[in-house]
Amino acid sequence: MWLKENVFRRKSYWEIQSSQRLSPTVRGMIGIREKVGEFLRCSIGDGRAATFWFDWWTDLGPLLNALGERGPRDLRIQLSATVADAAVNGEWSLPAARSEEAETLQIVLSTMAPPLSHRGPDKYLWRNDGNQYVPRFSSRSTWNRIRVAAPTIPWHKLVWFKEEIPRCSFTVWTAILGRLPTRDRSSVWGLSIPLNCVLCSSGIETHEHLFFQCPYAVAIWTHFSRSVIAAPPTSLLACSALLNQVPWQNSPALSAILKLLLQVITYVLWTERNFRIFRDLASSQQASIMRVDRMIRDRLLSIPPRPPPAPSLMQLFFSFSLSPV
Ligand SMILES: [Zn+2]
Repeated sequence: MWLKENVFRRKSYWEIQSSQRLSPTVRGMIGIREKVGEFLRCSIGDGRAATFWFDWWTDLGPLLNALGERGPRDLRIQLSATVADAAVNGEWSLPAARSEEAETLQIVLSTMAPPLSHRGPDKYLWRNDGNQYVPRFSSRSTWNRIRVAAPTIPWHKLVWFKEEIPRCSFTVWTAILGRLPTRDRSSVWGLSIPLNCVLCSSGIETHEHLFFQCPYAVAIWTHFSRSVIAAPPTSLLACSALLNQVPWQNSPALSAILKLLLQVITYVLWTERNFRIFRDLASSQQASIMRVDRMIRDRLLSIPPRPPPAPSLMQLFFSFSLSPV
Protein backbone atom coordinates (compact mmCIF):
# COMPACT_ATOMS: atom_id res chain seq x y z
CA MET A 1 0.00 0.00 0.00
CA TRP A 2 2.85 2.37 0.88
CA LEU A 3 4.45 1.58 -2.49
CA LYS A 4 1.20 2.21 -4.29
CA GLU A 5 0.69 5.63 -2.71
CA ASN A 6 4.25 6.88 -2.72
CA VAL A 7 6.03 5.25 -5.63
CA PHE A 8 3.62 3.98 -8.25
CA ARG A 9 0.91 6.62 -7.63
CA ARG A 10 -1.66 6.27 -10.36
CA LYS A 11 0.37 3.79 -12.42
CA SER A 12 0.40 0.09 -11.65
CA TYR A 13 3.43 -2.09 -11.01
CA TRP A 14 3.10 -3.34 -14.59
CA GLU A 15 3.14 0.09 -16.23
CA ILE A 16 5.71 2.07 -14.29
CA GLN A 17 9.01 2.76 -16.08
CA SER A 18 12.23 2.11 -14.20
CA SER A 19 14.08 5.33 -13.34
CA GLN A 20 16.95 6.60 -11.21
CA ARG A 21 14.52 8.40 -8.89
CA LEU A 22 13.32 4.99 -7.66
CA SER A 23 15.09 3.05 -4.93
CA PRO A 24 17.25 0.04 -5.90
CA THR A 25 14.67 -2.29 -4.31
CA VAL A 26 11.85 -0.90 -6.43
CA ARG A 27 14.06 -0.94 -9.54
CA GLY A 28 14.82 -4.59 -8.75
CA MET A 29 11.09 -5.34 -8.49
CA ILE A 30 10.51 -3.70 -11.87
CA GLY A 31 13.42 -5.67 -13.36
CA ILE A 32 11.84 -9.04 -12.49
CA ARG A 33 8.41 -8.04 -13.77
CA GLU A 34 8.40 -10.52 -16.66
CA LYS A 35 9.50 -13.36 -14.42
CA VAL A 36 6.82 -12.47 -11.87
CA GLY A 37 4.21 -12.62 -14.62
CA GLU A 38 4.97 -16.30 -15.17
CA PHE A 39 4.15 -17.10 -11.55
CA LEU A 40 1.21 -14.89 -10.85
CA ARG A 41 -2.36 -15.36 -12.00
CA CYS A 42 -5.42 -13.36 -11.16
CA SER A 43 -8.74 -14.95 -10.38
CA ILE A 44 -11.48 -12.43 -11.07
CA GLY A 45 -14.03 -11.56 -8.39
CA ASP A 46 -15.38 -8.01 -8.60
CA GLY A 47 -12.73 -7.05 -11.20
CA ARG A 48 -11.74 -3.87 -9.37
CA ALA A 49 -8.13 -4.74 -8.51
CA ALA A 50 -7.07 -6.65 -11.64
CA THR A 51 -5.71 -4.51 -14.45
CA PHE A 52 -7.32 -5.30 -17.79
CA TRP A 53 -4.16 -5.03 -19.90
CA PHE A 54 -1.35 -6.15 -17.61
CA ASP A 55 -2.53 -8.86 -15.22
CA TRP A 56 -2.65 -12.47 -16.29
CA TRP A 57 -6.36 -13.04 -15.82
CA THR A 58 -7.32 -14.89 -19.02
CA ASP A 59 -5.65 -17.88 -20.66
CA LEU A 60 -4.23 -15.54 -23.31
CA GLY A 61 -1.72 -14.08 -20.86
CA PRO A 62 -1.43 -10.30 -20.37
CA LEU A 63 -3.79 -8.86 -22.96
CA LEU A 64 -1.41 -6.06 -23.93
CA ASN A 65 0.95 -8.77 -25.26
CA ALA A 66 -1.85 -10.70 -26.92
CA LEU A 67 -3.54 -7.72 -28.62
CA GLY A 68 -0.53 -5.48 -29.07
CA GLU A 69 -0.15 -1.72 -28.74
CA ARG A 70 -3.30 -0.97 -30.72
CA GLY A 71 -5.39 -3.12 -28.34
CA PRO A 72 -6.50 -0.27 -26.03
CA ARG A 73 -7.65 1.82 -29.02
CA ASP A 74 -9.41 -1.10 -30.79
CA LEU A 75 -11.23 -2.18 -27.64
CA ARG A 76 -11.75 1.41 -26.41
CA ILE A 77 -10.40 0.37 -23.00
CA GLN A 78 -7.79 2.61 -21.38
CA LEU A 79 -4.37 1.29 -20.50
CA SER A 80 -5.09 1.97 -16.81
CA ALA A 81 -8.49 0.21 -16.85
CA THR A 82 -9.43 -2.56 -14.46
CA VAL A 83 -11.25 -5.73 -15.51
CA ALA A 84 -14.43 -4.25 -14.01
CA ASP A 85 -14.25 -1.46 -16.62
CA ALA A 86 -14.85 -4.08 -19.34
CA ALA A 87 -18.21 -5.14 -17.94
CA VAL A 88 -21.55 -3.35 -17.53
CA ASN A 89 -24.33 -4.71 -15.29
CA GLY A 90 -22.70 -8.11 -14.98
CA GLU A 91 -22.15 -8.55 -18.74
CA TRP A 92 -18.93 -8.23 -20.72
CA SER A 93 -19.10 -5.03 -22.73
CA LEU A 94 -16.62 -4.81 -25.59
CA PRO A 95 -17.05 -3.24 -29.04
CA ALA A 96 -17.44 -5.51 -32.10
CA ALA A 97 -14.15 -7.30 -32.77
CA ARG A 98 -11.98 -5.57 -35.38
CA SER A 99 -9.15 -8.10 -35.42
CA GLU A 100 -8.68 -11.85 -35.13
CA GLU A 101 -7.04 -11.29 -31.74
CA ALA A 102 -10.04 -9.33 -30.47
CA GLU A 103 -12.36 -12.06 -31.74
CA THR A 104 -10.35 -14.72 -29.91
CA LEU A 105 -10.53 -12.60 -26.75
CA GLN A 106 -14.32 -12.37 -27.08
CA ILE A 107 -14.52 -16.15 -27.47
CA VAL A 108 -12.34 -16.62 -24.39
CA LEU A 109 -14.44 -14.11 -22.40
CA SER A 110 -17.64 -15.90 -23.44
CA THR A 111 -16.37 -18.83 -21.37
CA MET A 112 -15.60 -16.69 -18.30
CA ALA A 113 -17.97 -15.23 -15.71
CA PRO A 114 -17.94 -11.39 -15.84
CA PRO A 115 -16.85 -9.52 -12.69
CA LEU A 116 -19.58 -9.01 -10.10
CA SER A 117 -19.38 -7.21 -6.76
CA HIS A 118 -20.85 -10.11 -4.77
CA ARG A 119 -18.00 -12.38 -5.91
CA GLY A 120 -15.64 -10.51 -3.57
CA PRO A 121 -12.25 -9.02 -4.33
CA ASP A 122 -9.99 -10.35 -7.11
CA LYS A 123 -7.48 -12.92 -5.86
CA TYR A 124 -3.86 -13.17 -6.90
CA LEU A 125 -2.60 -16.73 -7.09
CA TRP A 126 0.99 -17.97 -7.12
CA ARG A 127 2.28 -21.02 -8.96
CA ASN A 128 3.45 -23.76 -6.59
CA ASP A 129 5.70 -26.81 -7.04
CA GLY A 130 2.84 -28.83 -8.47
CA ASN A 131 2.20 -26.24 -11.21
CA GLN A 132 -1.05 -25.21 -9.57
CA TYR A 133 -2.03 -21.69 -8.62
CA VAL A 134 -2.65 -21.11 -4.92
CA PRO A 135 -3.49 -18.01 -2.86
CA ARG A 136 -0.31 -18.13 -0.77
CA PHE A 137 3.17 -17.11 -1.96
CA SER A 138 5.96 -19.56 -1.11
CA SER A 139 9.48 -18.35 -1.82
CA ARG A 140 10.73 -21.94 -1.68
CA SER A 141 8.40 -23.35 -4.34
CA THR A 142 8.81 -20.24 -6.52
CA TRP A 143 12.58 -20.64 -6.32
CA ASN A 144 12.27 -24.34 -7.13
CA ARG A 145 10.34 -23.46 -10.25
CA ILE A 146 12.73 -20.68 -11.33
CA ARG A 147 15.92 -22.69 -10.92
CA VAL A 148 14.70 -25.64 -13.04
CA ALA A 149 15.51 -24.30 -16.47
CA ALA A 150 12.54 -24.70 -18.77
CA PRO A 151 13.35 -26.92 -21.75
CA THR A 152 13.82 -24.85 -24.88
CA ILE A 153 10.88 -25.42 -27.14
CA PRO A 154 11.82 -24.84 -30.76
CA TRP A 155 8.36 -23.68 -31.72
CA HIS A 156 9.04 -20.00 -32.25
CA LYS A 157 10.18 -20.73 -35.79
CA LEU A 158 6.85 -22.46 -36.45
CA VAL A 159 5.04 -19.26 -35.57
CA TRP A 160 7.17 -16.34 -36.69
CA PHE A 161 8.87 -16.44 -40.07
CA LYS A 162 9.21 -14.20 -43.08
CA GLU A 163 6.30 -15.62 -45.08
CA GLU A 164 3.86 -15.73 -42.13
CA ILE A 165 0.33 -14.36 -42.23
CA PRO A 166 0.04 -12.38 -38.97
CA ARG A 167 -3.62 -13.16 -38.20
CA CYS A 168 -2.83 -16.87 -38.62
CA SER A 169 0.36 -16.66 -36.53
CA PHE A 170 -1.71 -15.54 -33.57
CA THR A 171 -3.98 -18.59 -33.76
CA VAL A 172 -1.02 -20.98 -34.10
CA TRP A 173 0.79 -19.26 -31.24
CA THR A 174 -2.25 -19.63 -28.97
CA ALA A 175 -2.71 -23.26 -30.13
CA ILE A 176 0.92 -24.14 -29.41
CA LEU A 177 0.54 -22.72 -25.91
CA GLY A 178 -2.57 -24.92 -25.63
CA ARG A 179 -4.70 -21.90 -24.76
CA LEU A 180 -7.46 -21.85 -27.34
CA PRO A 181 -10.78 -22.34 -25.52
CA THR A 182 -11.47 -25.81 -26.93
CA ARG A 183 -14.40 -27.68 -25.41
CA ASP A 184 -12.28 -30.05 -23.32
CA ARG A 185 -10.76 -27.00 -21.58
CA SER A 186 -14.06 -25.16 -21.13
CA SER A 187 -15.45 -28.20 -19.32
CA VAL A 188 -12.51 -28.13 -16.89
CA TRP A 189 -13.58 -24.56 -16.05
CA GLY A 190 -16.90 -26.00 -14.93
CA LEU A 191 -19.02 -24.96 -17.92
CA SER A 192 -21.59 -27.55 -18.89
CA ILE A 193 -21.25 -27.67 -22.66
CA PRO A 194 -21.10 -30.67 -25.00
CA LEU A 195 -17.55 -31.96 -25.46
CA ASN A 196 -17.90 -33.34 -28.95
CA CYS A 197 -16.08 -31.86 -31.92
CA VAL A 198 -18.41 -29.80 -34.12
CA LEU A 199 -16.53 -30.76 -37.29
CA CYS A 200 -17.03 -34.56 -37.00
CA SER A 201 -19.49 -34.92 -34.06
CA SER A 202 -17.62 -37.99 -32.84
CA GLY A 203 -14.28 -37.10 -31.21
CA ILE A 204 -13.76 -34.99 -28.08
CA GLU A 205 -12.69 -31.48 -29.05
CA THR A 206 -9.07 -31.14 -27.89
CA HIS A 207 -6.35 -29.12 -29.62
CA GLU A 208 -4.79 -32.28 -31.13
CA HIS A 209 -8.13 -33.63 -32.29
CA LEU A 210 -9.35 -30.40 -33.86
CA PHE A 211 -6.17 -29.58 -35.77
CA PHE A 212 -4.74 -32.99 -36.63
CA GLN A 213 -6.82 -36.03 -35.75
CA CYS A 214 -10.35 -35.02 -36.72
CA PRO A 215 -11.31 -36.63 -40.07
CA TYR A 216 -12.16 -33.12 -41.33
CA ALA A 217 -8.61 -31.93 -40.49
CA VAL A 218 -7.00 -35.10 -41.84
CA ALA A 219 -8.79 -34.59 -45.19
CA ILE A 220 -7.37 -31.06 -45.51
CA TRP A 221 -3.88 -32.09 -44.43
CA THR A 222 -3.92 -35.07 -46.80
CA HIS A 223 -4.98 -32.95 -49.75
CA PHE A 224 -2.05 -30.58 -49.30
CA SER A 225 0.64 -32.94 -48.15
CA ARG A 226 0.14 -36.35 -49.74
CA SER A 227 2.52 -35.72 -52.63
CA VAL A 228 5.38 -34.72 -50.29
CA ILE A 229 4.75 -36.36 -46.89
CA ALA A 230 4.00 -40.09 -46.41
CA ALA A 231 1.38 -39.37 -43.73
CA PRO A 232 -0.04 -36.04 -42.55
CA PRO A 233 1.38 -34.78 -39.21
CA THR A 234 -0.55 -35.91 -36.14
CA SER A 235 0.38 -33.05 -33.79
CA LEU A 236 2.14 -29.71 -33.55
CA LEU A 237 5.18 -31.51 -32.16
CA ALA A 238 5.19 -33.83 -35.17
CA CYS A 239 5.21 -30.76 -37.45
CA SER A 240 8.12 -29.33 -35.52
CA ALA A 241 10.00 -32.65 -35.71
CA LEU A 242 9.35 -32.89 -39.46
CA LEU A 243 11.00 -29.52 -40.04
CA ASN A 244 14.17 -30.81 -38.38
CA GLN A 245 14.48 -33.66 -40.87
CA VAL A 246 15.96 -33.81 -44.39
CA PRO A 247 14.89 -32.41 -46.85
CA TRP A 248 13.01 -29.77 -44.86
CA GLN A 249 15.94 -28.74 -42.74
CA ASN A 250 18.07 -28.03 -45.84
CA SER A 251 15.43 -26.13 -47.73
CA PRO A 252 14.13 -22.85 -46.29
CA ALA A 253 11.65 -22.66 -49.17
CA LEU A 254 10.15 -26.11 -48.50
CA SER A 255 9.90 -25.49 -44.77
CA ALA A 256 8.31 -22.07 -45.41
CA ILE A 257 5.53 -23.80 -47.36
CA LEU A 258 5.02 -26.39 -44.61
CA LYS A 259 4.89 -23.68 -41.91
CA LEU A 260 2.47 -21.67 -44.01
CA LEU A 261 0.28 -24.76 -44.42
CA LEU A 262 0.35 -25.34 -40.66
CA GLN A 263 -0.66 -21.72 -39.99
CA VAL A 264 -3.40 -21.52 -42.56
CA ILE A 265 -4.89 -24.98 -41.90
CA THR A 266 -4.96 -24.27 -38.14
CA TYR A 267 -6.57 -20.89 -38.77
CA VAL A 268 -9.17 -22.23 -41.21
CA LEU A 269 -10.09 -25.12 -38.87
CA TRP A 270 -10.41 -22.77 -35.88
CA THR A 271 -12.59 -20.26 -37.74
CA GLU A 272 -14.71 -23.08 -39.23
CA ARG A 273 -15.24 -24.44 -35.70
CA ASN A 274 -16.23 -20.96 -34.46
CA PHE A 275 -18.58 -20.35 -37.40
CA ARG A 276 -20.37 -23.60 -36.62
CA ILE A 277 -20.69 -22.88 -32.90
CA PHE A 278 -21.38 -19.15 -32.87
CA ARG A 279 -22.97 -18.42 -36.26
CA ASP A 280 -24.55 -21.75 -37.16
CA LEU A 281 -22.74 -21.75 -40.52
CA ALA A 282 -20.92 -24.81 -41.87
CA SER A 283 -18.57 -25.23 -44.84
CA SER A 284 -17.74 -28.55 -46.50
CA GLN A 285 -14.24 -30.04 -46.40
CA GLN A 286 -13.89 -29.10 -50.05
CA ALA A 287 -14.78 -25.46 -49.33
CA SER A 288 -12.21 -25.34 -46.51
CA ILE A 289 -9.56 -26.88 -48.81
CA MET A 290 -10.28 -24.13 -51.35
CA ARG A 291 -10.06 -21.50 -48.61
CA VAL A 292 -6.63 -22.77 -47.50
CA ASP A 293 -5.49 -22.84 -51.12
CA ARG A 294 -6.66 -19.29 -51.80
CA MET A 295 -5.13 -17.83 -48.62
CA ILE A 296 -1.74 -19.38 -49.35
CA ARG A 297 -1.77 -18.30 -53.01
CA ASP A 298 -2.68 -14.74 -52.01
CA ARG A 299 0.19 -14.66 -49.54
CA LEU A 300 2.71 -16.12 -52.00
CA LEU A 301 1.66 -13.69 -54.74
CA SER A 302 2.69 -10.82 -52.48
CA ILE A 303 6.24 -12.15 -52.08
CA PRO A 304 8.74 -11.00 -54.75
CA PRO A 305 9.95 -13.96 -56.90
CA ARG A 306 13.37 -15.41 -56.15
CA PRO A 307 16.05 -15.18 -58.86
CA PRO A 308 16.18 -18.20 -61.25
CA PRO A 309 17.00 -21.07 -61.27
CA ALA A 310 15.44 -21.35 -57.79
CA PRO A 311 11.80 -22.40 -58.14
CA SER A 312 9.35 -19.81 -56.89
CA LEU A 313 7.49 -20.49 -53.64
CA MET A 314 4.33 -20.64 -55.73
CA GLN A 315 5.79 -23.43 -57.91
CA LEU A 316 6.79 -25.31 -54.78
CA PHE A 317 3.31 -24.90 -53.36
CA PHE A 318 1.86 -26.33 -56.59
CA SER A 319 4.05 -29.39 -56.14
CA PHE A 320 2.42 -29.85 -52.73
CA SER A 321 -1.13 -29.39 -53.81
CA LEU A 322 -1.47 -30.26 -57.50
CA SER A 323 -2.83 -33.70 -56.90
CA PRO A 324 -6.33 -34.74 -57.97
CA VAL A 325 -8.86 -34.17 -55.21
ZN1 LIG B 1 -13.59 -33.88 -35.07
